Amino acid sequence: MTNTYKHWKLESDANNILWVCFDKEDATVNTIDREVMEEFASILTELESDNTHVGVILASAKKKGFIAGADIAKFTKFKDIAEATSVLTQGQDILNRLEALKIPVVAMIDGFCLGGGLELVLACHYRVAEDSVKTRLGLPEVKLGIHPGWGGTVRLPRMIGAPQAMNLILDGHTVTGKTAAKLGFVDAAVPKRQLVHAAKYYILKKPPRHKATFTQSLTNQAIARQLLGGYIRKQVSKKISPEHYPAPFHVLDNWEHVGVEDTKAAYEREAKSCGKLFFSETCQNLVRVFFLQDRLKNLVKEKTFSPKHVHVIGAGTMGGDIAAYCALQGLTVTLQDLEPRFVAPAIKRAHSLFKDKLKEKYLIQKAMDNLIPDVEGYGIAKADVIIEAVIEDLTVKQNTFRMVESKAKPQAILATNTSSIPIDDINIALMQPERLVGIHFFNPVNKMQLVEVVQGARTSDKVMDKAIQFVRKIDRLPLPVKSSPGFLVNRILMPYLLGAVDLINEGVPKTVIDKAMREFGMPMGPIELADAVGLDVCLSVAKYLGKYYGIEVPPKLIELVEQHKLGRKTGEGFYKYDKRGKMIKPSEPAYDKPLEDISRRLVLIMLNEAFACLREGVVADGDLVDAGMVYGTGFAPFRGGPIHYAKTQGINELYQQYVQQLKARGEKLDVQQWDTTEA
Ligand code: NAD
Repeated sequence: MTNTYKHWKLESDANNILWVCFDKEDATVNTIDREVMEEFASILTELESDNTHVGVILASAKKKGFIAGADIAKFTKFKDIAEATSVLTQGQDILNRLEALKIPVVAMIDGFCLGGGLELVLACHYRVAEDSVKTRLGLPEVKLGIHPGWGGTVRLPRMIGAPQAMNLILDGHTVTGKTAAKLGFVDAAVPKRQLVHAAKYYILKKPPRHKATFTQSLTNQAIARQLLGGYIRKQVSKKISPEHYPAPFHVLDNWEHVGVEDTKAAYEREAKSCGKLFFSETCQNLVRVFFLQDRLKNLVKEKTFSPKHVHVIGAGTMGGDIAAYCALQGLTVTLQDLEPRFVAPAIKRAHSLFKDKLKEKYLIQKAMDNLIPDVEGYGIAKADVIIEAVIEDLTVKQNTFRMVESKAKPQAILATNTSSIPIDDINIALMQPERLVGIHFFNPVNKMQLVEVVQGARTSDKVMDKAIQFVRKIDRLPLPVKSSPGFLVNRILMPYLLGAVDLINEGVPKTVIDKAMREFGMPMGPIELADAVGLDVCLSVAKYLGKYYGIEVPPKLIELVEQHKLGRKTGEGFYKYDKRGKMIKPSEPAYDKPLEDISRRLVLIMLNEAFACLREGVVADGDLVDAGMVYGTGFAPFRGGPIHYAKTQGINELYQQYVQQLKARGEKLDVQQWDTTEA
């Protein structure tokens, strides 16, 4: 065998096993592109006539992960559907040749193994995986508006039966090595120290290869496909629509029509269907959103700040959850509040979070050890980052920072989680106001990926940079924003929520409003969202923003708060909730007007605010508005973000519609033109 490949390192060991290690040139992570596949095909050609090796172990030479999937930048630039389909077919042919090798091939998976990487692995004869939570396997293609195209939609159902396979493919979630072993597409999940041994075992002993059980095989038979297909389609349709997210429905159609036994027909159909999806608007927009995420991830140019200790002041809803999340990420966290009884509930919540995320006892204990109750505030003097999350009161925050500044290390950054108070009002209490930055998390902290990093007029660039590095360190997406009322996300979201409450006052049923926005593509409707945020929180933000932007607070919102109907947390808001916080389904009144009229009206309100943010430089450009709204509010990702949506629909056209809307409602027409150049 030659060893002159750019991306693959080949080595024979004492047992005559050939180690084929993926080591993508000039990259920290392995991703697959055409060149990688061409080289792999050449290795297969050599192996097809090789008589010296007893088997092959496919592994990664990278410290970080096995294979992250296909290189998205390269795999989304096809000339046309025919070219996309042909590239997919070539990939399938290569994996079929891998599967047909005469000597056993074992994939040794340590770290993430996703998308095209997992498809490659599925074509191997055996799979062993490292058994910690770091190793995750999955086929997340649907998240980019496509589906697996290198045989994954055929091999996986054949290997583990259709129900489990469809469950993985249709929503693109990942599982650990242990779960993959339970499901049957990994032969063994073992601790890292036994991984090499396990991989060699399969080559040297050649145990029977994994096969689906009889029942699993039955699920792929024609009659079962008809019955199951209808059922699964119904379940998927409850969550997403084929119009917005066609890919999962393509997978189902393909499987229902050709099954998994006639592999030639199944692979052909898979390649054609995936090739077509590359050119759908959904795919183009989801890929756009993927790159927006990449942009936020890559805001850190140089790692100059490596925080290890975070001190959080205020152990309430936000402070408690920020502390728990940072401890989960491996940082040492001290958590301060006025009295131990205010810290205790936060520690309890943290324990549930760790249990849910980490599963293993020793890992849960390790995370608990990271989180230290600290009523006296001893942690301030040791911390690299100090986050204030006390009540939303200017004087309390100023006093807190005066105390913090006198104790903190000179290089530590001082951060506030305020949702509304301008950074420059708080930092006047400091000797060095340039040290204060906003690090604005969203609720619930462990679910919301976006964190606004807020720069006051006096915040130094160096402190901004450190804050951004901290946010990346805890694996969140930092969005740099200028300190102005509501920053970006609340500024755009609140008028939209209030606009929805106005509609209720005008007699539109709440369920209809929510349905209209879900159909537009929002993860939940605005009225459900207001209940989830808390109507008291909405009211205080609305009143605060109202002062700056002339927004009127709808009487219905004030009325509910006065009745202490604060939403999900009190069991009643606009909707009613059971003891576990689940909404009690209200009756759905008849409504015969088009739902699009409702969604258009609310989206136009959002767009007007989004263009105002651009005009005022709250963020640097339209892409950052889009990233903020997609990752901070779940704005329909398949539409590519609000500004991108406006561009595709015609900015001027939508602006005119907005003006007409204001006229029709007899509102003030002091709205400024939406800028087409800055977007
Ligand atoms: P909360 O009322 O749940 O918690 C505030 C905590 O601060 C309480 O436990 C209180 O005992 C403690 N506290 C008050 N004064 C203190 C002091 N001097 N020293 C130490 N602890 C003190 O409030 P919350 O909802 O967690 O909000 C905290 C901050 O986060 C606010 O600035 C708010 O604007 C912001 N925020 C809230 C949300 C949200 O959804 N709740 C979202 C983003 C940001």
